[in-house]
Amino acid sequence: MSGENGQPPSATPELREQAAAFLAEPHLHCIDGRWSPGAASATLPVENPASEAVISEVVLGTRADIDAAVAAARKALSGPWGRLKAFERARLLLAFAEQVERNAALLACVETLENGTPFALSMGSTCGLMPELLRYYAGWTTKLAGETLPAAPAGREALDWLVYTEREPVGVVGAITPWNAPLNIILLKLAPALAAGCTVVLKPAELTPLTGELLVRLAQEAGLPEGVLNLVQGRGEEVGAALAEHPGVDKISFTGSTEVGRSIVRAAAGNLKKVTLELGGKSPMVVFPDADLAEAIPTAAMACFFLSGQNCMAGTRLFVHESIHDQFVAGLSGMAQALKVGDGLEPDTVLGPLISAAQRQRVLDYIALGEAEGARRMTPERHFEGPGHYVAPVVFADCRADMRIVREEIFGPVLTVQRFGSEDLDALAARVNDTIYGLSGSVWSRDVSTALGFARRIDSGQVAVNAHAAVSPETPFGGNRQSGWGREMGRESLDAYLKTKAVSVRL
Ligand code: NAD
Repeated sequence: MSGENGQPPSATPELREQAAAFLAEPHLHCIDGRWSPGAASATLPVENPASEAVISEVVLGTRADIDAAVAAARKALSGPWGRLKAFERARLLLAFAEQVERNAALLACVETLENGTPFALSMGSTCGLMPELLRYYAGWTTKLAGETLPAAPAGREALDWLVYTEREPVGVVGAITPWNAPLNIILLKLAPALAAGCTVVLKPAELTPLTGELLVRLAQEAGLPEGVLNLVQGRGEEVGAALAEHPGVDKISFTGSTEVGRSIVRAAAGNLKKVTLELGGKSPMVVFPDADLAEAIPTAAMACFFLSGQNCMAGTRLFVHESIHDQFVAGLSGMAQALKVGDGLEPDTVLGPLISAAQRQRVLDYIALGEAEGARRMTPERHFEGPGHYVAPVVFADCRADMRIVREEIFGPVLTVQRFGSEDLDALAARVNDTIYGLSGSVWSRDVSTALGFARRIDSGQVAVNAHAAVSPETPFGGNRQSGWGREMGRESLDAYLKTKAVSVRL
């Protein structure tokens, strides 16, 4: 993503002023098209992780707010929204995409302020993946057709029967989202849910509530009817849990930790609502000796350190062939030390801060644990003056499969390296798949049989060859095993927001 004169886009003083004006406004729930402080008078502070300053406050929701939002979403299903033609839903999604593009810089700036993502990276998404997602799903609205089936009940004449299916919206969707890539992840849910004709109650992460609010405002400006998209801010244990167990909700779409994912499943059991889960990961990268190292080394480094490691798809378990191991690790370590860590609003920042003091401490504890477990730390400590939850990227060599830094999701910039030798592909795959997760993965080789043969053996929802985490609106994304249930993006995502009705007509 480049701005004017080929430079990376940067947050201009005018943009920072516009963002500051937005931060200073009241930040409310949106229920049935109206902005309201809801049932409680308490607020939640929002911190800028780069400065540790409180930059804004949002209302703190309660169960009563969830009740009101779910009632509004249910009413909207049978209102004008439910009667729209498919192409009219497409038009609204296209208008929403235009609003996102028009406000791309403000969205990116607010994301940087509330979660630390480097501004140019956020802009890459607000100008790229986000409007593309909305347009991709706008295209699907008019293609969500059922089928006529050559069918008749047993013992009846086929000529006397007409059997067809209809695809209907699943109903009221509760969308619960995390803080690490708030804008993208909210749209991954909104775009297919709205395309399918559902209504939504959105509960963004309490650490990053402002980007969610901006998106809801833009959807309103695009003309989305009242009650179709509702927003309730608040804590996971209270409003998230209330949404997950609400009998008026037909489906929960959740992205977050595996642990909270389990509690969503338990909460959903009451009315057996549908659930899709995008959870944690500990994704492998496997580098064979014939890989293009000039490409593989920097890509593998960024596959782990991107978003300061706060990335569910992060390649955190690197397997390198012993013949290239030392060269590879030296390259990674050099790169890790050279990456500029700092405030995401500074134009040359590559890695921003971690989201919070607690997350920083958790990551530092894992780094200390890695040293105690006997992994060889290849990158020296870096100290950061002043405020900000910064952690420099760390490379650990000589890791073993039983180490906790290899087994557990750290969600910070910590790369673990293991070597492999002459074992065959099946034996290597057993080591690579020795994890409870199965979200992403990558294979690096110039040999098509090695690359594709190994890609087939990785037990993950998504595998890239000579790249890592290559996402696009058309490509299904999601996890195997404890990385989740279901898929987002692509045509498959729509299935989770639709239900099939079969109609059998006796002629
Ligand atoms: P989290 O699970 O703590 O929180 C996610 C959301 O769930 C937040 O909105 C939170 O308020 C809410 N929540 C918390 N407790 C709840 C409860 N009891 N009931 C209902 N809702 C509750 O996750 P996080 O710390 O915000 O995000 C980091 C995690 O998300 C990591 O594990 C990461 O791997 C995962 N993640 C996965 C994907 C993916 O696509 N697979 C993408 C991004 C992040």
